This record gives sequence, C-alpha cells and structure tokens, in this order.
Amino acid sequence: MDVGDPRRFRVDDPMTSRDSGGWLEAVLVDARDARWCTRPYCTTCGGLQFRRAIWTAAARQAGVEMAQFGSTCPPHDLVEGLTSSEREATVRALVAGLRQLPPEWGDTESFRTIIIDLDPPLMKHGVLMDLATELAGTPAGERLARRKEHERSVRAERARRAADASPEAVEERRRVKRLEKARAHSLRQSRTRRRNEDRLEMLAALVRLPAFERLSRFATDPALNLDCVSPELIPDQEGDLVDLERATAVALIARIGRRKGRWGRLRRMLDHRLRAESE
Ligand SMILES: [Zn+2]
Repeated sequence: MDVGDPRRFRVDDPMTSRDSGGWLEAVLVDARDARWCTRPYCTTCGGLQFRRAIWTAAARQAGVEMAQFGSTCPPHDLVEGLTSSEREATVRALVAGLRQLPPEWGDTESFRTIIIDLDPPLMKHGVLMDLATELAGTPAGERLARRKEHERSVRAERARRAADASPEAVEERRRVKRLEKARAHSLRQSRTRRRNEDRLEMLAALVRLPAFERLSRFATDPALNLDCVSPELIPDQEGDLVDLERATAVALIARIGRRKGRWGRLRRMLDHRLRAESE
C-alpha cells in the first residue's frame, strides 16, 4: 500500500483507511496547517477543535455514527451517546491510528493531547485495554513508554521528597548525626590514647639510652618531637657531650632552635663546645 501521501487516507475514505494510521496523520497535518491549538490541557480553548476532529475521525474509521457535539469536553461529549461497543470500536480505531503514526509525531503536543484523552482506556472510556500493550513495538508505543517512565520518576522523586520531610526521616537523620558525632569523638579519644602510648614508649626507650646516644636521637630522629621529651631526659653535663660528633652537634643546635630551659642550656653547651673545637 502506498502511504507516501497521507491525504490518500482521508477520514471520509472508508475503503482504504480502516486500521491504517494514514487517516490520523492526515488529521494531524490538517490541524497543523490550520494552526489549531493542540496544547495538552490548554486552559484557554481546551484544544476542543483538535480533539473533536480526532475523535470524529476515529469514530468514522470505526464506522460509528457520531451524535451531535454535546456540551461537555471531548471526548466525553462525543462518546457519551454511543453504545459501549461503538465506544470500544472508536477507541480501538484511534489506537490503530496511533500504531501507524510515523515517529516524528511522537514529540508533538498533538500526540500528547491524544494520549491524555485516551489513557487509561478503562477509566476514561470503559474499554478494557492496556494502551502500552496495544502500542507496543510502535513509535507511538515507545513514546508512551518514555512518558510513563518520566511520570514514574517524577512521582518517585515527589514521594522521596515527601519521605525526606517526614518526622521519622528528620529523626532518623538526627540519630545518624548523633551516631557519627559519637564515633568521631571515640576515634579522637583512641587516637589521643594511642599518641600518649607512643610517647610513653618513646620516652621509655630514651631513658634506656646512654646520654650521647640520646643526643644523637634528638639530632637525627625526625619522628621524635623534642617538645614531648621530659626535661630530666635532656643531658646537662659537659661530659655527656664528649662522644658527640661535630655534624650531630650542629644538627642538634638547629633542632633545638630557640627553645628555653634545659634545651637552652644544652644549646649553649653545644655552642660552647663547637667554638672551643674550632679555636
Ligand atoms: Zn488552546
């Protein structure tokens, strides 16, 4: 069948158009050319002209004689006078039209408006039919699936936001925060304890060392914090310096820096010794 010219299947051509999508595309093209409003849920005109044209054409496809337009919105005013079998035939004709619709119509307002008028068929028209199943495997079906997926994610997001704001969720977030705080606190405590243990261990090791070896640890061990060394471990006798190498003494003076007290005394002794050596 040649479908190159959709106008071949005008709505009033029952021989060629039954169950073919050409008639629907023809109505869509007419609506576009005539600049009818096809906006979904249009609050100005309700898209009445367009929707009446669609449903009238679908009824004609089904061989159903439409009554005069009623006073309510389409499709209700059109289908209200029909028997249930006529209504079903009309809905099925429109769905058949959608099945034949080329993919480029899938993103249009007209397509959305038709879907809004149709779906769900059982609730809107009393026709037991699942639109997604009926349109499966067609461009219209694909488009419908994407729309449903989008609606689902919007609903899920809305539900998630509502759940987030619930008193239970707020209390749960507080509980988690308290727990994290307590954990961080105990972590800090155990770190401090660990540091203290390390320090005691280091001091115990220093105590066991002879004075000149302790001095060389002070000068060369980068892991050793001089401020953690208790004063009684700082050698203060000239005799303790006898075995110290010159380079070690220089490094130690640099590390002691401007510290006062026992450290200051040690620095002055080291200075004195270096001067005496160079004389
Ligand atoms: Zn409008």
